[in-house]
Amino acid sequence: ITLLGLESSCDDTAAAVVRHTADQMPEILSSIVAGQTGLHADFGGVVPEIAARAHAEKLDICVEEALLRAGLRLGELDGIAVTAGPGLIGGVVAGVMCAKGLAAGSGLPLIGVNHLAGHALTPRLTDQTAFPYLMLLVSGGHCQFLIAKGPDEFSRLGGTIDDAPGEAFDKTAKLLGLLQPGGPAVEAEARKGDPKRFNFPRPLLDRPGCDMSFSGLKTALLRERDRLVAEHGGLRRADRVDLCAGFQAAVADVLAEKSRRALAEYLTLAPATPTLAVAGGVAANMTIRAALETVCEREKVTFLAPPLALCTDNAAMIAWAGIERFRAGQRDDMTLQARPRWPLDQHAPAMLGSGK
Ligand code: ATP
Ligand code: FE
Repeated sequence: ITLLGLESSCDDTAAAVVRHTADQMPEILSSIVAGQTGLHADFGGVVPEIAARAHAEKLDICVEEALLRAGLRLGELDGIAVTAGPGLIGGVVAGVMCAKGLAAGSGLPLIGVNHLAGHALTPRLTDQTAFPYLMLLVSGGHCQFLIAKGPDEFSRLGGTIDDAPGEAFDKTAKLLGLLQPGGPAVEAEARKGDPKRFNFPRPLLDRPGCDMSFSGLKTALLRERDRLVAEHGGLRRADRVDLCAGFQAAVADVLAEKSRRALAEYLTLAPATPTLAVAGGVAANMTIRAALETVCEREKVTFLAPPLALCTDNAAMIAWAGIERFRAGQRDDMTLQARPRWPLDQHAPAMLGSGK
């Protein structure tokens, strides 16, 4: 099965071609990602209208490039997968329209994909991980523990009750005058700092369950920053690296401790090859990866983290999630709708602040 995937739910326009032949490792034939960071730089965040227009302009060229690099014509594919939500609605609509146009023109089947399923199924693209596995999905807009039981079956064990860690990294970068996206910038500064100088809060660790909170951390950081600025008339380099290191250590600690609890719940299912996999942009963070790996070693569970380019938004994960649906006989038609909200666990209660 060979699918084209399209992704345009946030600020990256992406197209990819992925092929899977039974009993073999899936193959990413091409994966094109066109970012928009420069476009939004003056506004301190993603501007939905600008994002939607940029997606509409760039999708065609990304598709052309993805096909070219894969060395395939549209007619040689088996279908077209597209992110149908959740995300910024203008961008999602642009992607769905583009995919419908391609499907109508070529007669190929159309497959709508949940962006979060794209992230959550990435370990199957990279490692053919067997169900059920525990997934920590940690990105710019989400943070949740899921037990992945099937391509369309996820149960949520808990998640953030306020900000997502990616958002917290981005806000921290902004508060400290670093470039966006904040994750990589804060990580680079943290590498030079002392994670123990500031003791930032680790919220909800005293409470049972897998829920997390990151907004208090941001407030604590702001308070420290203001104190230091008042004391020294500006933020000194040494203070900034220590603030970054302290912030990152707090996020890593919370994720590690809550992972330990989520694992305990997951292990009651007695999986044949117990696995914790991470996905989403924040999974690119090396300190966080190391903290999770330590937990897994202690619990004798396999730890999987995708290559960095497959952590942040990309279309290979969308093509792959499409292949999983396609193989299960699922198809969409021209009535496919873009959805701004679309929880992965349909049975979960209304989620507090864990969606965009
Ligand atoms: P969602 O998937 O929830 O809709 P999104 O698609 O915007 O959100 P991703 O592209 O998966 O999110 O991830 C982007 C986020 O990951 C940003 O907030 C960014 O700061 C963060 N991030 C990227 N690299 C790192 C890193 N090395 N350390 C920490 N955070 C990182
Ligand atoms: Fe994402």
